[in-house]
Amino acid sequence: MKTNARAVIIGGGAIGVSIAYHLAKYGWKDVVLVEKHELTSGSTWMAAGNVSFFHPSFYCTQVNMKSIEIFKQLEQETGQPAGWHTTGSIRTADNKDRMDELGYYYSMNRCLGLDVSYVTPKEMGELHPMMNTDGLLGGLYWPDDGDVDPNSMTQAMAKGARKYGAELNLHTRVTGIEQTPSGEWLVKTDKGDITCEFVVNAAGLWAPEVSKMVGLEIPSIAIAHTHIMYEKIDAVVDRDKMLPLVRDPDRSIYLRQEMDSLILGMYEANGQQWKKNGVPWDYAQQELNPDIDNIADCIEAGMERFPILGDTGFKHVTAGPITYTPNGDPLVGPAAPLKNFFQACGYSFGITQAGGIGHYLAGWIMNGEPEIDLWHVDSRRFGSHANWAYNTQKIADVYPRLYSIFFPNEFRDAARPNRTSPIYEHQKAANAVFGDYYGWECPNYFPPEGKDSYETPSWRRSNAFEHVGNECRHAMNKVGIIDLTRFAKTRISGPGAMDWLNHMTCQNIPKRDGAIALCPMLDVNGNFKSDMTVTRVNENDFFCVTASVGKKHDQHWLLSNLPDDGSVQMDDLTYKMGCLVLVGPDSRKVLEKIAYGDVGNDVFKFSTSREVYVGRTKCRINRMNYVGELGFEIFHPIEQQLTVFENLMAAGEQFDIKMIGMHAMDSMRLEKGYLAWKSEMNAHHTPFETNVAWTVKLDKEFIGKAGILKQKEQGIPRKLVCLVVDAKDSDPWGYNPILKDGKQIGMSSSGGYGHRVEKSIALGYVAPEFAAVGTTMDIEILGRARSATVEAMPLYDPKNERMKS
Ligand SMILES: Cc1cc2nc3c(=O)[nH]c(=O)nc-3n(C[C@H](O)[C@H](O)[C@H](O)COP(=O)(O)OP(=O)(O)OC[C@H]3O[C@@H](n4cnc5c(N)ncnc54)[C@H](O)[C@@H]3O)c2cc1C
Repeated sequence: MKTNARAVIIGGGAIGVSIAYHLAKYGWKDVVLVEKHELTSGSTWMAAGNVSFFHPSFYCTQVNMKSIEIFKQLEQETGQPAGWHTTGSIRTADNKDRMDELGYYYSMNRCLGLDVSYVTPKEMGELHPMMNTDGLLGGLYWPDDGDVDPNSMTQAMAKGARKYGAELNLHTRVTGIEQTPSGEWLVKTDKGDITCEFVVNAAGLWAPEVSKMVGLEIPSIAIAHTHIMYEKIDAVVDRDKMLPLVRDPDRSIYLRQEMDSLILGMYEANGQQWKKNGVPWDYAQQELNPDIDNIADCIEAGMERFPILGDTGFKHVTAGPITYTPNGDPLVGPAAPLKNFFQACGYSFGITQAGGIGHYLAGWIMNGEPEIDLWHVDSRRFGSHANWAYNTQKIADVYPRLYSIFFPNEFRDAARPNRTSPIYEHQKAANAVFGDYYGWECPNYFPPEGKDSYETPSWRRSNAFEHVGNECRHAMNKVGIIDLTRFAKTRISGPGAMDWLNHMTCQNIPKRDGAIALCPMLDVNGNFKSDMTVTRVNENDFFCVTASVGKKHDQHWLLSNLPDDGSVQMDDLTYKMGCLVLVGPDSRKVLEKIAYGDVGNDVFKFSTSREVYVGRTKCRINRMNYVGELGFEIFHPIEQQLTVFENLMAAGEQFDIKMIGMHAMDSMRLEKGYLAWKSEMNAHHTPFETNVAWTVKLDKEFIGKAGILKQKEQGIPRKLVCLVVDAKDSDPWGYNPILKDGKQIGMSSSGGYGHRVEKSIALGYVAPEFAAVGTTMDIEILGRARSATVEAMPLYDPKNERMKS
């Protein structure tokens, strides 16, 4: 076994082998994989092997697309059969909400050019003659889906990995991981140590234990999953064509052909967590005892949908452990706060995603950035609240609902609350309907008492619509208060702070104390990395605010670029400071009543920051906001939030101050054309494509400059536009195809209804020739084309007179 390597991959399941294969294929010579038993001996060997394009996320769909492309050519490349079959797949719907959900997938998949079509119950019956289509409203059909033999596919990639020079060591267990003073990793195994630059944790069921070796706790636990292989079925044998995979999500089952019979899989109501205290190291290639009673409902549902199953005996019942994270998606990419340690674990559909993630993660490790935006699976999307116990509670809700309808506005109650602002009880008393954002309870809207205290999840305008509208109008006409305590806040200080920040962002760091600047951070290619607002406190002290959900991601990026000469210090202030935002034309009047000091427009100008006493509390107030009204972001010591809040509410009483939620804020930011991180600002777009091109200062050096200069030379491939849409009762959500004369010219990045302008809005990227104001086009919403027109951005208060008033 090598004692030095560029990268060590821990785990020889489908995921680890794919990463080793791709790293070696793309040119890294010293790639070493260590597997404690045989390849595939964790979850991989037991998998059913269903592989489809289907995924709720636009980017994960691309991972699946890549997998299928890879699986199809593996045999030709390696000489080893991978067991791929193209069978097609059907996803059924037996209710209107499910049809809406399928409409989202249909439109989103069309953005990717996938072959997908609606099918009627009759057509589904023709595609799968053993299916009873009673009660179905329709479905979607993907002709290019299929299945793969998990073991053959992994072995084929292993053969490929070896062919390209990777070393695969079996029966070698990693027992510890240390970082040397020079920053290299020392991976200790029971066969000796390996020094390397990069470590990838692809240890599947054991990934939490491997994470502990480097001091990390990850939210991944094991649940037993069951599928049943039936006895030989003559009707299957007699066919000359393979049957498509069928997923009947309303019954929580899937069915596919396996040789001369069928496999029925299920996500039962009462999923059983396995080995709560960690999976023993010596577990390998063992099935679990199936709990037939627990899956009886699903077996029955299978017989109803596929009556032939009622006449066929079980050949084998496979129960095996699968890893689950709090939202069922894996943990991939750089592990914060470490350097060169990557996660590739927590996979519950790891066969489907193995090929694709091997390709994309290899690129991420080798180039420093992923080829596509992988935030949806980024291990840093979970805050520190997402620990093992949290995950245990969350999974009890998530597992049985793996096939439930995906809604964009659903916030489940399980494992909540976690983080609450000190004013939480006040919010509850004001009838807040909360959402969960990075573990923070944050009000989405405030209905009147006894009305709509639960937002009915929907792809259409929900019962929150009217209340959200009221809040937007209140912010427009009076004064509101928004709790943004969840903002990520970082203090950057020291003699090198200013120069370093200037290197981290394309924008000029303010030169005057008290000035604020919107400072996007870019990746090495010039695309958006993070959305940061920097306030200069003094020449050596900067207060930086970024999106709450991106906290770990953004702070990891800052930390990994921090100079090691001690000239710059970084302090996380997120949990030390709250933020309450006063917005609306009366906001200054409210503040004036309790602020010590002048907060008038002459001394406290728009886009500046001051220390102001709000009542007795010394606060840092930034005169800006995300909704486009006169407003003040009031940052304060978290332990004094109740005092600040109560003072503001008392002062605001005569102005009819009201609390305002996240839904209203999002609606108002669309009207102002303010970009949202990971919607408009992601790894596929540069500032030049957007309305914040003015933040790019090319007369200085910064990360991403070469990439952005290249784009300047070549011209932008697309441009951000604001579309006003002729929507009916469903507004664009993002990932809607934008079409001109039936041809796709772009895609929405986000959307919703603007209550102040009374218009349905989509923000989206289109080819530049279609970006002119007045250009008409169509946007597809839930599978239907709606007409849309490009309008000048922003739709609301284009001269920013209200904010600057
Ligand atoms: C019954 C069943 C049906 C399934 N059906 C499907 C399906 O149809 N489609 C689909 O996409 N997915 C399916 N899955 C899920 C799929 O099997 C997993 O998501 C996937 O196999 C995960 O692969 P992995 O490489 O991440 O983990 P694993 O396969 O668990 O591999 C991890 C490897 O790491 C090794 N390892 C761990 N710790 C160490 C250490 N310290 N040192 C060295 N080696 C170590 C282990 O021995 C193991 O081989 C199914 C799973 C089950 C159980």
